[in-house]
Amino acid sequence: MPNASPKIIAIANQKGGVGKTTTAINLGTGLATAGRAVLIIDLDAQGNASTGLGIGADRRENTTYDLLVGDCTVDEVAQKTDVPNLFIAPSTTDLSSVDVDLVSDPNRLVRLKQSLTGANKYDYVLIDCPPSLNLLTINAMAAAHSVLVPLQCEFFALEGLSQLMRSIREVKTSLNSGLQIEGIVLTMYDKRNNLSGQVEADVRENLGDLVYDTIIPRNIRLSEAPSHAIPALLYDHKSAGAIAYQDLTVELLSRNNSPVAA
Ligand code: ATP
Ligand code: MG
Repeated sequence: MPNASPKIIAIANQKGGVGKTTTAINLGTGLATAGRAVLIIDLDAQGNASTGLGIGADRRENTTYDLLVGDCTVDEVAQKTDVPNLFIAPSTTDLSSVDVDLVSDPNRLVRLKQSLTGANKYDYVLIDCPPSLNLLTINAMAAAHSVLVPLQCEFFALEGLSQLMRSIREVKTSLNSGLQIEGIVLTMYDKRNNLSGQVEADVRENLGDLVYDTIIPRNIRLSEAPSHAIPALLYDHKSAGAIAYQDLTVELLSRNNSPVAA
């Protein structure tokens, strides 16, 4: 039965290079493979999610800039990918001027929310946020039901997280009272490195059930796949990275009371 309205999840962490885009692409692929209709919104001017899903710069006529600043609808911006059920709203470097272009728009914090009201043909919308708590990330959090946080297993992980949690609280108070934490996923876990284990213990002690059981290992296949413009789940579905993202998909669906069919 198709969803009347999608579950919208912002994938956010203001720290760069922690696995936001890798998570958007591979969780999106996992959900699509499990039969859900999925739209990834590339909300980063770097356009890494677009490139990683095979939408080269020459194929980005309507983009997320047009969703936010112009008057394109989601249907005009969304494109098919090579993965059945998986669509992407691509971005270009135009996005980097959104702050300035919307400066006098009283709705500038809720432009994405307004655009997504028409996204009813999807079960899940995943928003790949930029590495900053800027206007784009605020738009994502204002539009979303929940925030999924990729957290790299490194020493200062928890410090960065408290800043993110403050921003989520602020958005909850001012723009989106229903905003929840979808979950925190530990990424780039290196089991040969004691630090990864210590960070995991620390994060689980502090954040308890918010942390997914599934851990994404550091895995070369995950970093190679984008250069082939396909998700790791297709590039090497038996790799430890691809298996971990499949496990994350199953865990997320089961937490959403929407388990994968056998
Ligand atoms: P940005 O903040 O720049 O948008 P990001 O948080 O989206 O970065 P990614 O682009 O997903 O992070 O990952 C950063 C780099 O690390 C990429 O080159 C990616 O291929 C690689 N990478 C991501 N996850 C893993 C992993 N689990 N194992 C190995 N490499 C990874
Ligand atoms: Mg990214």
